[in-house]
Amino acid sequence: MTDRRNELAGNLARVEERIASACAAEGRTREEVTLIVVTKTYPASDVRLLHELGVRHVAENRDQDAAPKAMACADLNLTWHFVGQLQTNKVRSVVRYADVVQSVDRVKLVTALSSAAVRDGREIGCLIQVALDAQEGGRGDRGGVAPDGIEELAATVDGAPGLRLDGLMTVAPLTGPYAERQRLAFERLVEFSSSLRVAHPAANMVSAGMSSDLEEAVAAGATHVRVGTAVLGVRPRLG
Ligand SMILES: *Cc1c(COP(=O)(O)O)cnc(C)c1O
Repeated sequence: MTDRRNELAGNLARVEERIASACAAEGRTREEVTLIVVTKTYPASDVRLLHELGVRHVAENRDQDAAPKAMACADLNLTWHFVGQLQTNKVRSVVRYADVVQSVDRVKLVTALSSAAVRDGREIGCLIQVALDAQEGGRGDRGGVAPDGIEELAATVDGAPGLRLDGLMTVAPLTGPYAERQRLAFERLVEFSSSLRVAHPAANMVSAGMSSDLEEAVAAGATHVRVGTAVLGVRPRLG
């Protein structure tokens, strides 16, 4: 094994152990939680090694980096998640490789995703990104719609050709009432998910938790955790 492969294998094993313990602590089965490895800023060669090590879900947050990487890994059986703030002018590129867009936070983006998906004959899974600390009717600094906007967006995705409403996503707020209270934040997201599923029972994905707070997310009921640093190492630049 190469050094990098060894390093990734060790990191993955530690993350796997953390997820398994968190599941056990809550009486959840390990199968209830899917690990998505966030490969942003890391090369396609790492994605390839991760695939060899059994990873099947990867996430990226910038189309400029993600598009060539996904192209280079097109032969691999991977589900690609897009988790970054998404400008409508990048949508045509993103729908070519993304299976799931987790950062859906405005109607204009839904419209753009829908027409691009239809044009390419693709079906794109969509998660509504919720900004727990956003003002009513507003959006978060790092993307996301305020909780009172979830329903309208969900209905729009649901009625949009080429799109499938899969659930909700959040990033724990750094400031405001949820700062340092990830567990509470993720529990709120799970409550919003329960309400959403009354009208949209299939939209059962809850994407929450990163390297530093995946245990809180699993405890709150997340179905998907998005882990970058703990698997790949500290990123060379902000991404
Ligand atoms: C980078 C990123 C992650 C992973 O963060 P780590 O702290 O490196 O695990 C998860 N979600 C989103 C939206 C991200 O941009």
